[in-house]
Amino acid sequence: KFNTNVGQHILKNPGVAEAIVQKANLKPSDIVLEVGPGTGNLTIRILEKAKKVIAVELDPRMAAEVTKRVQGKPEAKRLEVLLGDVIKTELPHFDVCISNTPYQISSPLVFKILALPNPPRVSILMFQREFALRLTARPGDSLYCRLSVNAQFWAKITHIMKVGKNNFRPPPQVESSVVRIEPKMGSERPGVSWGEWDGLLRVCFVRKNRTMRASWLGTKEVLAMIESNYRRHCSLNDIPIDDTEFGEDEEAMDVDVGADEEWGGIMDVDEEEGDDAPAFFKQEAERLAREAGTKTKSRKKKTRVAELIREKIRKVLEDVTELADKRAGKCDENDFLRLLLAFNDEGIHFN
Ligand code: SAM
Repeated sequence: KFNTNVGQHILKNPGVAEAIVQKANLKPSDIVLEVGPGTGNLTIRILEKAKKVIAVELDPRMAAEVTKRVQGKPEAKRLEVLLGDVIKTELPHFDVCISNTPYQISSPLVFKILALPNPPRVSILMFQREFALRLTARPGDSLYCRLSVNAQFWAKITHIMKVGKNNFRPPPQVESSVVRIEPKMGSERPGVSWGEWDGLLRVCFVRKNRTMRASWLGTKEVLAMIESNYRRHCSLNDIPIDDTEFGEDEEAMDVDVGADEEWGGIMDVDEEEGDDAPAFFKQEAERLAREAGTKTKSRKKKTRVAELIREKIRKVLEDVTELADKRAGKCDENDFLRLLLAFNDEGIHFN
C-alpha cells in the first residue's frame, strides 16, 4: 500500500522518530516545516514540542492519513497540511525543517532550503547514507563533489545518526543517515551570489579528477558558455568587443585534455557530474545569448574575443590563483572562492 516510487518508507521505530525530533531542539514558539509527513509518525511528536507544523505532502492519501491522526484533538488547529510537491511549493516562513526525506528530492530540497532569503535556523533531515556522506565529504574524500562544496559553503553540516534500513516499512534498498544543517547567518553568510558560486562549481566539477586547466580550457561548450556570459557582461558595461576573425580553425584548439579525461571517460561519473555536462553548458550559452540578444552560431575561425577569453582564463588559473594543475576534488572552499574572485576581476561571471 506504500508507493516507494515517491519514497514512501515509513519510520516504524518510535525511538528513531523520537531522536530525530529531539535533535532539532525545538522551542515552543517554533514553526516547523515537515516534508512528507506520510502517516504522521514525526508530525505528532513535533506537534508536542512546537507551536505549529506546516506539513507538505505529495500523496493525497497520506495527507488524509496525517490529518485524520490529529482529527478532533487540540493539535489539529496547529497542523497545516499543504498538498503538493515541496520543491514546487512556495513556502511560508518557518524556523526549523524536519524530514524523513523522499530520496528523489534530496538534492533539490537541500538547495531550496539553503537558497531561501530567510533560511530555517536548523534542519534535521534523513537521507540515504551515501547522500549524507556526500554532504559532509571533505577535499580528497572519494565522495567529495559539487554538492559537498556547495552545501558546506552555505551551511554547517553534521552527520548525527545512522539509521539501518530495518527501521522503515517497507525497508529501502540502502542505509540511511540523519544530518543537521545549520545555515550560516548574518556576517558568516558568504558575500557572493548563489548563481555565481554554483556556476563556477559546475565547471570545476564537470570531472572532479580533471585539472582545472582541462576543465576550463578543454571543452568548447564551457568556453562557449563563458563567451556568452562575457558578451553579456560587456554589453551591460559598455565594453567594446573585438569580433574580428583570425588564426586557425576552431577545431584546431590546442588543449590536450588527455585520453582518460575526455567526455564519456569512465572516471567516477556520479549523479552530480554526469555526461550531460556539455549539453548543460551548451544550453546555458544559448540561454545567455538569447538574453543578451547575441548569437552563438559556431564560427569557423577563432575570433579575437574568444582568444581574449582564453587568455583571461589562462591568467586566472596560472598567474593569479596558481590552480591550473590542481584537481577540483582536492580544492577546498577557499580555493574556489579565490578562483571566483579572480574570474570576476577579469569580467568573467557565471550567472
Ligand atoms: N514522515 C513519514 C515517516 O517518517 O514515517 C514518511 C516519510 S516517507 C520517507 C516520505 C514521504 O514524502 C511520503 O509520504 C511521500 O508521499 C512524501 N513525498 C514524496 N515526494 C514528495 C514531494 N516531492 N513533496 C512532498 N512530499 C513528498
